[in-house]
Amino acid sequence: MTRNDELFDRARISIPGGVNSPVRAYRSVGGTPRFLTSAKGAYVTDSDGTQYVDLVSSWGPAILGHAHPEVVAAVQDAASRGLSFGASTPGETELAELVRARVTSGGVSPIEKIRLVSTGTEATMTAIRLARGFTGRDVLIKFAGHYHGHSDSLLAEAGSGLATLGLPASAGVPAATAALTLVLPYNDLDAVREAFALHPGRIAAIITEAAAANMGVVAPDAGFNAALSAIAHEHGALLIVDEVLTGFRVHPAGYWALESEAQVAAGSDAAVSQSYVPDIVTYGKIIGGGMPLAALGGRADVMDFLAPLGPVYQAGTLSGNPVAVAAGIATLTLADASVYAHLDTTAELLSASVSEALADVGVAHAVQRAGNLFSFVFGDYSPSAGGAPRSYADVQRQDAFRYPAFFHSMLDSGVSLPPSVFEAWFVSAAHDDEAIGRILAALPAAARAAAS
Ligand code: PLP
Repeated sequence: MTRNDELFDRARISIPGGVNSPVRAYRSVGGTPRFLTSAKGAYVTDSDGTQYVDLVSSWGPAILGHAHPEVVAAVQDAASRGLSFGASTPGETELAELVRARVTSGGVSPIEKIRLVSTGTEATMTAIRLARGFTGRDVLIKFAGHYHGHSDSLLAEAGSGLATLGLPASAGVPAATAALTLVLPYNDLDAVREAFALHPGRIAAIITEAAAANMGVVAPDAGFNAALSAIAHEHGALLIVDEVLTGFRVHPAGYWALESEAQVAAGSDAAVSQSYVPDIVTYGKIIGGGMPLAALGGRADVMDFLAPLGPVYQAGTLSGNPVAVAAGIATLTLADASVYAHLDTTAELLSASVSEALADVGVAHAVQRAGNLFSFVFGDYSPSAGGAPRSYADVQRQDAFRYPAFFHSMLDSGVSLPPSVFEAWFVSAAHDDEAIGRILAALPAAARAAAS
C-alpha cells in the first residue's frame, strides 16, 4: 500500500469521497488520487515522494508555473501585514486598474468597472443576479456542456427541445430555479434565436464560456460570440462572457481579445464579424495567481447596479482579500508577452506530438484547440464522420474508454494529466525543454495503452 493509498483511505473517513472537489477523486480514470505535498515550476510531488510533470496547473491558475519566487514573495509580504481586514485596501484598486488596462483591444475595454470576489462560482452567480436585476427579467440561456461553477441557476441541463425549460442537473437544485435556465446546444445560433422568439421579453442574459473548455476544449465558431452579443442586444438582454478559465491564459486580455485580433488579422472584409463587447465578463483562476480570488467586470451602468450604489446585493467577508490580491497583482504583472509566446509554442508542440503518437498506433482522434488550451477527443471525427466536435453531444459520442489507460500510462511515466477526458490540458511558463522532453518520452507508451 502506498502512502497515497493510506491517505486516501484516511481522507474518505472524514471527507465525502475523500476529496473537496469531485474530479480530484479520479472517478473517471480509476485508481488512487495522488495526494500532493509540494509543487515547484512545472512539477508537483506527491506524498510518496514521486515527482510528476504537471499539466493540470491547478486547473489554470499556475500560468507562471508553481510557486514562482516573486509571487511567493508578494504573498509573504502581504501576509506579514495582515491576512484579512474586511476593509478596503489600496491593492484592490491597483488590481482593478491593472485588469482594466490589460483587457483592452483596439482601444476598447469591456471592463469599465470590476468587483472582486473569491471564486469563479461567486463571479458567475453574481453576474447572473446582476443581469436579472438590471433587465428586470428572470430567464437565462446557457449552453450544454458549459460549466460556470456550481450555483443553482447554472447547474441546469437541457430538457427535450427548446420549448422545454431546464431540469436540475444536481439533486438539491429546486426545479423552479432550473426551470428559469434554458440550456441550448453550443454553436447553434438558430437555437438561440428560437429561444428568444419563444420567450419574448423574459430572457435576462446569455452566459457563455468565452471558449468552452469544460467538456474538453470546444472553440466557438468564428463570429459565434459576436452574434450572441448582437442577438442579446436586439432583444434587450445582456451577454455574460465567462473567462474564468480563458481569461489571462489564452491572451494577455483573454479570449475576447484573441477573437478581436483574429478579426483584425482577417481584414475588415472578413465574412464573419468577430468583434463584440461583452456586457459582463467573469474572471477567476489566474487573476488570483493560485489564491482564492475571482471577479466580475463590465459596463459601468450595469456594474453600478451592484450594492452599495444599486439594488443588486453582493458581499463577501474575504472579497478582495489582501493576500490573494497581492498574488494576483504579482502574477498578472509577470505574465508578459514572452509568457504567452511560450504557452502558445508549448501548446502547439504538445498537441501535435500527442496527435502524432496516437496516429502512429492507429487511434482515431481529433485535437481540440482554443488558443493555447487544448484537449483530445477519441474516435472518428474526420470530415466524413461529421468533423471536429462543435457541441456537447459531439464530444459525448467519443471513445472515452481510451482515456483512463492513456492517463495512467502517462502517470506511471511521471506526467500528471487532468483525470478526465472532458478537461483541457494546461501548460505554463515553467514547462521548459526538460519538462517537455519528459512528456514527449512518455507519449508512445501511453498511445499504445490507449490503442489496446
Ligand atoms: N467558470 C468556468 C469557465 C470555469 O472553468 C470554472 C471552474 O473551473 C468556474 C466558472 C467556477 O470557478 P470556481 O471553481 O473558482 O468556483
